[in-house]
Amino acid sequence: MSKVNRRGFLKGALLALASLPVLESLLGQQAQAAAAPEVDKTKGMAKTLGYVSNAAVDCAGGKCGPKFKDGSKCSTCSFYKKVDDKWGTCSLVKPGSVASEGWCKSYIKKA
Ligand code: SF4
Repeated sequence: MSKVNRRGFLKGALLALASLPVLESLLGQQAQAAAAPEVDKTKGMAKTLGYVSNAAVDCAGGKCGPKFKDGSKCSTCSFYKKVDDKWGTCSLVKPGSVASEGWCKSYIKKA
């Protein structure tokens, strides 16, 4: 390898290493922005299971029936997988995102 080529290679390698944190940051932001639109509450399992976006408000006063317990919400459900602070995915209610503050009749508290 000639001296110029070696220098060019080392310079490129150093630039690539220096850009890794920037790439990681950009990819992290993309992952956070990747939350899909909320599930359609008028269709499919969301409708069948009575999914609501904000359990504290939508289920207040017994509006969600006797299965609802105060404080239960998607973010503490065993079917929930967090995407960001407000949204996640549910293995039962899909396609789309469910709200971290949401709830449905299949709620099971995470162990
Ligand atoms: S099963 Fe759990 S995570 Fe899915 S919508 Fe119902 S309460 Fe939310």
